[in-house]
Amino acid sequence: MTTQFEQEFHRQLEQLKTEGNYRYFADLERLRGAFPRARKFEHGGTRDVTVWCSNDYLGMGQHPKVLRAMKTAIDDFGSGAGGTRNISGTMHLHVELEQELADLHQKPAALLFTSGYVSNWATLSTLGSRLPNAVIFSDAMNHASMIEGIRHSRAEKIIWRHNDPRDLEKKLADFPDSCTKIVAFESIYSMDGDIAPIAEICDVAEAFGAMTYLDEVHAVGMYGPHGAGIAARDGVADRLTLIQGTLGKAYGVIGGYIAGSEELCDFIRSFASGFIFTTSLPPAVTAGALASVRHLKESSIERLRHRRRVKELRAQLDCEGIPHAANPGHIVPVMINNPEKCRRISDMLLEFHGIYVQPINYPTVPKGSERLRITPTPLHSEADIAQLVAALSELWSQCALSRKVA
Ligand code: PLP
Repeated sequence: MTTQFEQEFHRQLEQLKTEGNYRYFADLERLRGAFPRARKFEHGGTRDVTVWCSNDYLGMGQHPKVLRAMKTAIDDFGSGAGGTRNISGTMHLHVELEQELADLHQKPAALLFTSGYVSNWATLSTLGSRLPNAVIFSDAMNHASMIEGIRHSRAEKIIWRHNDPRDLEKKLADFPDSCTKIVAFESIYSMDGDIAPIAEICDVAEAFGAMTYLDEVHAVGMYGPHGAGIAARDGVADRLTLIQGTLGKAYGVIGGYIAGSEELCDFIRSFASGFIFTTSLPPAVTAGALASVRHLKESSIERLRHRRRVKELRAQLDCEGIPHAANPGHIVPVMINNPEKCRRISDMLLEFHGIYVQPINYPTVPKGSERLRITPTPLHSEADIAQLVAALSELWSQCALSRKVA
């Protein structure tokens, strides 16, 4: 007998399928040393595919220094950390990584979390719930982890127009000085790849005595002379109260962090449930992240190669008239604007060309703005780019999608 709640699960899942928004995961095995190639499991067998949608933006998840550090840490320290940070789970590696991250962002302190999501959720919920009369001014395009953290804080939330300091200014002006104002935004927005006017936002926030909370998840490792992100690239990192980042994207491992003043990090360390009540990162993960951060602090080769690849891809898409959102960053969104077509094109890329690009549908992006979010890496070759663009061009004709005239 099917219970009422199971019927409800079924109904809602069927609705997602009808809308074209049901998520099918590709069952993959990344192959060490072969990135962006991966093995895909399907129909009882496997096939090799080229991955074009990874957030391992620089291929650091395969970097020999990172792998060596992780293997050594397992040999030296074993698997898990064995506890929460407070109860035997603070390894010396955590302390070293926090110092390295503080130094990266030129802040007095940093604090590690198990993921970027958890760091946003835990920090914003703690700030919003514990600061007196807190009001959080959130950019309209902020990531789900920030939105959930703000919601959980129960603080008043005011949404300002995406990347619009003038709108932020108007909204800040509506609140008295007695409120603790927190301006939360990102440097690079993941789905459109656009970049925030950080200096102007700081100008406005400072005029109202607001604290600034910047998510640099898609920028750390990638921008600035040492990979500290867009704020560092723009020379404004010192104006931000808090910088948040991940170790799971350009750094190729997993984990999240915040960097800020000693008191701020101590405050979050002391009050954030999502920091306190969970087992800390395993030594191998921490060692891998530390090796990755250190490497990208010194080496710009990966960043330079990466930029060249992004430029080449955009130029070739332009030659074929494949429309892609113009942005100054490294994310190349190819707009389809229809959920079924987006899925179909993704399926055909995989089936006929061995190219894996996950379709991005609602709720990750608004309905009607479905896209292929393409992320070139320094490890994609010129031949990979040519193959991707030729395949897209063929599918563009087959699906009668409109081309952009140069
Ligand atoms: N912040 C932004 C803007 C993101 O896009 C993401 C993940 O995609 C996160 C935070 C979460 O980071 P993590 O994947 O490390 O949990």
